[in-house]
Amino acid sequence: MRRCVKCKGEPVIDLKSTNAAFCEEHFIEYFLRQVGRAVEKYKMMAGGQQVLVAVSGGKDSMALWDALLSLGYEADGLHIDLGIGEYSRKSRLVCEKFAAVRGARLYVLSLVDTYGTNMEEIVRRTRRVSCSVCGTVKRYLMNMVVQQKGYRVVATGHNLDDETAALLSNLFSWQEGYLARQYPCLPSTHPRLPARIKPLVRLGEQETEMYCRVKGIEFWAGDCPLARGATSLVYKDLVNSLEDKMPGTKRRFLFGFWERGRRNFTGEPVELKDCSLCGQPTTADTCLFCRLMQKAGINPLSQPQVSQV
Ligand code: AMP
Ligand code: ZN
Ligand code: ZN
Repeated sequence: MRRCVKCKGEPVIDLKSTNAAFCEEHFIEYFLRQVGRAVEKYKMMAGGQQVLVAVSGGKDSMALWDALLSLGYEADGLHIDLGIGEYSRKSRLVCEKFAAVRGARLYVLSLVDTYGTNMEEIVRRTRRVSCSVCGTVKRYLMNMVVQQKGYRVVATGHNLDDETAALLSNLFSWQEGYLARQYPCLPSTHPRLPARIKPLVRLGEQETEMYCRVKGIEFWAGDCPLARGATSLVYKDLVNSLEDKMPGTKRRFLFGFWERGRRNFTGEPVELKDCSLCGQPTTADTCLFCRLMQKAGINPLSQPQVSQV
């Protein structure tokens, strides 16, 4: 491995995409600079310094939470406990431990306490693709906590690998609406909805994992048992094999899309109205969350059970 580009010290990582190796100290500096650059370039913190970080307990969101705190943001965590056996128990524990060690505020919303059932059961009863059901439910619940606690910005741990794979997948099926909305910073579209930001878009999985390792941040590496066979994983493999042969491909593809490609996808202007059941902003008469919950035979109006650690 090459020596650190900054100090010629012992390297911990050699990044082919940016053609640089770093020692521990300079890797942390590089990582935080990439996060800071994303925040500035895409004007992510226009809503102030306060942000709610959606933390799953995985390496990406834990690295993100740490990085935002390290950069001086008032970053509180929100974990949604999906009630999926050991997977969820370990994920939750990681988030709670981090909050305790860093003295950070963490909200935990329990699906089982709120609806009396877990994500596995909800997916089974709706008979829909698990990742899309889970995504809809998580997004909805995040918005509920945002409103309860008064946040304006929600950050997620989506990284360069996630976003490149999603872009490719959306292009392959010409999902114009998704393409228009694929951006690291989406401003709020309704007074009750937060801005959504993805500060890790300049960093890949290898980098978020190394950041956790050098900073001693615990994370839970288990794969979601419901995501087996998800098509997003096929696109990730594809993108990784391109990157392997042609380092820098991911960055060129994704950043190029944001600079030059995305403007060709404007998307339909959406008009939001109040859901006929829950009153949350939606484009339909009844929001997707309420329709899914009804299909699963669950009362969508149950009061979310949120605890604060
Ligand atoms: P995923 O779709 O599982 O790759 O997750 C993408 C991002 O969504 C993560 O980086 C987190 O920011 C957020 N997220 C996923 N699962 C949860 C969860 N159970 N609770 C809170 N945030 C989550
Ligand atoms: Zn160095
Ligand atoms: Zn609704």
